[in-house]
Amino acid sequence: MMISECFSSLQGEGSLAGVPSFFIRTTGCRLRCRWCDTPYTSWDAEGQRFSVEELREMAQESRLHHVVITGGEPLIQREIGALTAQLREASFHITVETSGTAAPEFDCDLLSLSPKTSNSDPEGRWTTRHRKLRSDLEIARRLLERAPEYQLKFVVRGGGDMPEILQIVQELGIRESWKVQLMPEGRSAEETEARSVVVAGLCREYGFRYTPRLHLSLFGGGRGV
Ligand code: SF4
Repeated sequence: MMISECFSSLQGEGSLAGVPSFFIRTTGCRLRCRWCDTPYTSWDAEGQRFSVEELREMAQESRLHHVVITGGEPLIQREIGALTAQLREASFHITVETSGTAAPEFDCDLLSLSPKTSNSDPEGRWTTRHRKLRSDLEIARRLLERAPEYQLKFVVRGGGDMPEILQIVQELGIRESWKVQLMPEGRSAEETEARSVVVAGLCREYGFRYTPRLHLSLFGGGRGV
């Protein structure tokens, strides 16, 4: 598999925020979000090949129970099914983080689905392709149908994002509003902090869950956290 980095840290976002986890970050992505916080897996993808056996071994060496497979977009990796099978065999709790633009066969305990809205649209030659791919909700629907547990995470800049988010939630048929999570957009603690009160207010208004980005406030972002 093409891997950008593997490391132990605390889960920064979502319903497992704060849980010590081993992260496997794949490299390569179909989208080009303008605020992407891991451009080294998308805009300027870099990484090296590891076998699923090597990844399983590294996860076991971490002595942690939770593994997070993230990216980039892990679901475009040909070996994703084989990797999750290896991790299942080793009794890990598996979270898969995805933008929902591909739906191969794989196993997980928690599907962390993060559909992108128009606030992610880049300018330039990627605009059309990004818009087309990010808005194909049929793939997201298929992923949700198969997921044993899920959370739906949105990156939010402000109230202007809400009509689009509400439409996606409705089109996906999500009734469990507490599984819809809003997190402030930002690539630094300062940026997310500046939006946090507004985003928390939107959560109160719409009955959605607020998720922090702990890795930014605790560790300052960057690689390996
Ligand atoms: S989907 Fe994720 S990895 Fe891909 S460009 Fe967007 S933020 Fe970056």
